[in-house]
Amino acid sequence: MKVCVIGGAGYIGSHTVYELIDAGHEVVVVDNLSTGLRDAVHKKAAFYEGDITDFRALDEIIAHESSKKPFGVAMHFAAKIVVPESVKNPSLYYYNNVEGVRTMLDVMVKHNIKNIIFSSTAAVYGEAKEGVCTEESETKPINPYGETKLASEKMIDWFARAYGMNYCIFRYFNVAGAHKTLEIGLLRDHLTHIVPVTIQTALGIRKKMTVFGGDYDTEDGTCVRDYIHVSDIAYAHVLGMKHIAEKNVSEVINLGSNQGFSVKNIISEVEKHYPVNHEYGARREGDPAKLIASNKRAKEILGWMPKRDLAEIILSDLQFRIKHKK
Ligand code: UDP
Repeated sequence: MKVCVIGGAGYIGSHTVYELIDAGHEVVVVDNLSTGLRDAVHKKAAFYEGDITDFRALDEIIAHESSKKPFGVAMHFAAKIVVPESVKNPSLYYYNNVEGVRTMLDVMVKHNIKNIIFSSTAAVYGEAKEGVCTEESETKPINPYGETKLASEKMIDWFARAYGMNYCIFRYFNVAGAHKTLEIGLLRDHLTHIVPVTIQTALGIRKKMTVFGGDYDTEDGTCVRDYIHVSDIAYAHVLGMKHIAEKNVSEVINLGSNQGFSVKNIISEVEKHYPVNHEYGARREGDPAKLIASNKRAKEILGWMPKRDLAEIILSDLQFRIKHKK
């Protein structure tokens, strides 16, 4: 299938492009390179620099590519994803994450692209009861990032009804790790996510890290999350795209492991390799105590299960950062 990957130079997007190309698909990447890297785009993918909020630019790229061969599906990865930043700057998040999706959908309608794969997030659930989320759990985000993703999910559903489109919305839990070739991984200035922060501290790239809150209502007092290897997430997109296009259906699917690990667990796993200089600090705004996915639906509908565990997630990110010195 011919696939348009918007945000394909970013972390999850670039890994998905690798999986798509490995599976024999034709890939066109559009990315504004705001956080993505040109070098992260697979050599066999076509690349265009363009912004998801720019209708004219997107329209031109898609028109040009569609004239050679029409697209079967478009994938969306071009989002702002940092919870604390969204709390400080909601306007940026609504503009990029909601207006961006609306623009993309308008272009899809214009060029008759019927299938969309959308990257959503566990943050749409907010403070989940018991901390374990099924796709039916109440959606009640507690930060602007989660709100913008939920708004986009709803918009996609309404577009799908109006224009006969299919969608696969994936709600990601905590994505980490690097590609097995160590060519791509999470490279960015000012990383904020726990896995890279802990590993950068272990490698001396950072002097010290802070655990945000040790007084949560969890077993060890630190927040619990569900960690998933980026290549497992990426492969789910190949399965999801085939499923909705062939069966002409729409789905909302969690991508997680059914298992939770605390911030303390992450530090202990990294400390199997190197010591981590850390201290305890105040809670971070917008952080729920516990978020774990039920991945039953992914298994039933797509036959998807994560293949890599926490040890492999940590080791791959560690090796990637040693190689790239970042
Ligand atoms: N966290 C932390 N110190 C850091 C970064 C993150 O204690 O330097 C905690 C954060 O408060 C949360 C968990 O690690 O409880 C996961 O945060 P992250 O930003 O990685 O992902 P999120 O769950 O917010 O998407």
